[in-house]
Amino acid sequence: MSRFIPYGRQSITREDIDAVVEVLGSDWITQGPVVDRFEEELAACCGARYAVAVSSGTAALHLAVLAAGVGTGDEVITSPITFVASANCAEYTGARTVFADVEEATVCLDPEAARRAFSPGTRAIIPVHFAGHPCRMPELRSLGDERTVVIEDGCHALGASYRGDGLTHRIGSCAHSDMTVFSFHPVKHITSGEGGAVTTNSENMYERLRLLRSHGITRRPEDMKQAHGPWYYEMRELGYNYRITDFQCALALSQLRRLEGFVARRREIAEAYIGAFADIDELVLPRPGTDVEPSWHLYVIRLRTLDRLAFFNRLREKGLGVQVHYIPVHLQPYYAEKYGYRPGDFPAAESYYAGAVSLPLFPAMTDDDTGYVIETVRDVLKELTP
Ligand SMILES: *Cc1c(COP(=O)(O)O)cnc(C)c1O
Repeated sequence: MSRFIPYGRQSITREDIDAVVEVLGSDWITQGPVVDRFEEELAACCGARYAVAVSSGTAALHLAVLAAGVGTGDEVITSPITFVASANCAEYTGARTVFADVEEATVCLDPEAARRAFSPGTRAIIPVHFAGHPCRMPELRSLGDERTVVIEDGCHALGASYRGDGLTHRIGSCAHSDMTVFSFHPVKHITSGEGGAVTTNSENMYERLRLLRSHGITRRPEDMKQAHGPWYYEMRELGYNYRITDFQCALALSQLRRLEGFVARRREIAEAYIGAFADIDELVLPRPGTDVEPSWHLYVIRLRTLDRLAFFNRLREKGLGVQVHYIPVHLQPYYAEKYGYRPGDFPAAESYYAGAVSLPLFPAMTDDDTGYVIETVRDVLKELTP
């Protein structure tokens, strides 16, 4: 049997391809009018005032931290259970990364642990909506003072929402943050190949993000110190080339228009897993709070006692492209050696990691695929149980 079901993959339709091809025949193949259109629709979809599209989620995180004014000597608090980019963005600026433990049930940054990690040097906090489950944003927002910048890493959570202050807030609306970052890597909710974005309600941060995306260069005469002639542009600060192309945004825009369907299908598959595994004592299953609507980027099961490596290898042999998200970032040699982090520092994160396995979850999975995942997981558990 040569069946292989990856843990995630893109869904590209004829419509998506036609949208990209149409832009390739236009005058703009680098940043142009489709980037603007995508930004408008993304901001509207999230309920934010502004969106800035860039070349990757990592670039979006880097620009968000810069736009927040984070730099050398500052401290940035984030979760140890995330992709390394959530922490690396602070390191790029010369700031120090400070990890704080996750909540056992949601694997999201624990507001109490974040509060304990606060110091007078804390400048920003980057909660990660792990697997598409929203963090406790009102509590996280209340930490620190008015100088503390909150940047949501929403790379798992496009289309998710939570209740807070009696209202429903969509991830990306920045109701309890300054900025939210998204990735459009092919395993995420929508894709542009590589790509990312920052949403914000702050005009000041929006302008800074746009400037930093393109070398720190402005072409608006009203923002310039000098005037040489029509050719003149002015570099106001040190920026980057983090632009995304019009044809990438054509794909992202076409995909964004199908987001609700993608999220609905992810929820359906997650429900199927929850129902199918509820009676298995060996497994710890994701337990979404009642005040959130996760968008299910990942479905992670945790083993209580069985050997994770044996379970993982056996699932792979049977054609399930399972993965482990994530290796605790504080134990990566770069962070462990630089800051002296050691095993045992973040017990909830490490105990989560010891048993975690991500099952296949993406909108194009058929009911037959889902059934095969469920049957295979149950079979392998039986096989490994002494
Ligand atoms: C995917 C991801 C990123 C990075 O996005 P890229 O587009 O791959 O650069 C950052 N943080 C989290 C949590 C992610 O899942």
